[in-house]
Amino acid sequence: MPRLFALIPAAGSGVRMGGDLPKQYLPLAGKPLLYHALSCLCRHPEIERVFVVLAPGDPYFSNYEWQLLAARTTPLYCGGETRAASVFNGLLAARDEIAAADWVLVHDAVRPCLAPAALARLIDTVRDEETGGLLALPVVDTLKRGDADAYVVQTEAREHLWQAQTPQMFRYRLLLEALRVIDPVLATDEARAIEQLGLRPKLVIGDNRNFKVTYPHDLALAELILKSMQ
Ligand code: C5P
Repeated sequence: MPRLFALIPAAGSGVRMGGDLPKQYLPLAGKPLLYHALSCLCRHPEIERVFVVLAPGDPYFSNYEWQLLAARTTPLYCGGETRAASVFNGLLAARDEIAAADWVLVHDAVRPCLAPAALARLIDTVRDEETGGLLALPVVDTLKRGDADAYVVQTEAREHLWQAQTPQMFRYRLLLEALRVIDPVLATDEARAIEQLGLRPKLVIGDNRNFKVTYPHDLALAELILKSMQ
């Protein structure tokens, strides 16, 4: 039976947030933002271990009390220039613990409101798939393509368009090889690297609460959602 692991890239600087503290450590409901993503993954009974990829020399992670999560978490100080490089470096660093056919769920540190039901849905659906898959949401808004001055060029058809979320779940060896050959700037998510190989990841209905904290006002929304999930 292939085993399940998770990997959280947490080596970004979060420039859109402003401030000195990297986004993944900003306080949210009394804990660093990263705690919430880590907590959801660590609490899933089948995920054996969660690897957290940190920037080399990250001075923050070891200052926090991770309590019960610490036993199932391995910090790896090998983050790269891009998200894809951080994931690739983390996968390489974890190679002695993960077998080629094991599943790896890659989840953004800055998506703190992953509901256990969405995580379970992803795992249950994708473990029967050959290629792997990801949480995603069908686009509901009307899509406009704009020019550089923010005038509408045209309206885009939204049929069959999905917004990718995380976790994204792929087999260890396939993901490692896909990330080895793709330009890391192009690979803004893992699925993009897999698609480059001509493969077709499965889209699994996500959850709009599982949004990516990007701007300062997102923290207040995330806090409300976390409260409603308790
Ligand atoms: O910057 P963005 O919001 O797209 O980051 C998504 C995730 O990728 C975050 O968890 C961030 O810490 C991580 N990341 C990383 N290494 C980078 C850039 C981003 O691990 N060089």
